[in-house]
Amino acid sequence: PRKFFVGGNWKMNGDKKSLGELINTMNSGKINADTEVVCGAPSIYLDFARQKLDTKIAVSAQNCYKVAKGAFTGEISPAMIKDCGVTWVILGHSERRHVFGESDELIGQKVAHALSEGIAVIACIGEKLDQREAGITEKVVFEQTKVIADNVKDWSKVVLAYEPVWAIGTGKTATPEQAQEVHKKLREWLKTNVSEDVAQSVRIIYGGSVTGGTCKELSAQPDIDGFLVGGASLKAEFIEIINAKH
Ligand code: 13P
Repeated sequence: PRKFFVGGNWKMNGDKKSLGELINTMNSGKINADTEVVCGAPSIYLDFARQKLDTKIAVSAQNCYKVAKGAFTGEISPAMIKDCGVTWVILGHSERRHVFGESDELIGQKVAHALSEGIAVIACIGEKLDQREAGITEKVVFEQTKVIADNVKDWSKVVLAYEPVWAIGTGKTATPEQAQEVHKKLREWLKTNVSEDVAQSVRIIYGGSVTGGTCKELSAQPDIDGFLVGGASLKAEFIEIINAKH
């Protein structure tokens, strides 16, 4: 059985005061031990979050660069992330792809480097609305997944996050059936292109307007192994999402 995984992606939100309060709420919340919980903090607050959050909650960076160090103004490396006691990084988020123009190739290089440094990766994929409407959702997510897969040796350190771009920050959650359909296809893709073992063991989580109201039905789908949560991860509601299965 795959351990349920819930990640919060705080994106570029909060300050020490509000994140400190959120962390207190998280630390005192009842979190089911059967769920793996990770909070994605802005890079400048990674150290702060790691020092304040209970150790049962892991911390994730929201991005990192593809090499260990050097003249790359403004970037952070997996080595620096690790140095702060942070164990995860989100890579290939749709905002990195579409606001900051990151290519599949760059994302693949980042995945390979982060894993080689011992940082676990939440690798994000997902189609835009026009691509869904054109009927090419599968083609798009398979291509994105291939680039990630080409750069992974140890799948135990990878969680795949399906985040349809049209559902992110829009309040338009994918229906449980829409999400399940893509998750199932992704698992089939992994079976054909990686291995049966990896297809069965990799967590495929859903992201895009997940709320306390939508999480239970989504989590009941056989191929949805958790969530990557934006807006609702900044509220106490996040605890409800963590406990969606219970
Ligand atoms: P929202 O939950 O705010 O739609 O964001 C989803 C997301 O992008 C998580 O990475």
